[in-house]
Amino acid sequence: MDLTDLQRTIRATYGAQDAARGVDGTFGWFIEEVGELSRAIRRQGHDERVEEFSDVLAWLVTLADLCDVDLAAAAERYRDGCPTCAASPCRCATVDPARP
Ligand SMILES: [Zn+2]
Repeated sequence: MDLTDLQRTIRATYGAQDAARGVDGTFGWFIEEVGELSRAIRRQGHDERVEEFSDVLAWLVTLADLCDVDLAAAAERYRDGCPTCAASPCRCATVDPARP
């Protein structure tokens, strides 16, 4: 499934309730899911991590939709590698020693 298909599916599945909740409420849910992902990464197994990654992605897609952002178009920014140095692998660390 690509990002366009996912965004379309999420909109069809949850669009009405997401619109009613609004951006601020949805952002709160997104952050809560990020917290659950953090716990899954630190304390749980692979299956739980996969589930939490999917939840965070779904909430990110919802937020993008509420903000009229096409995520597939946004991802194009990384198509050719690092958007800062335009290289892949990124060479920013060699250009900017302060960057990790
Ligand atoms: Zn870079």
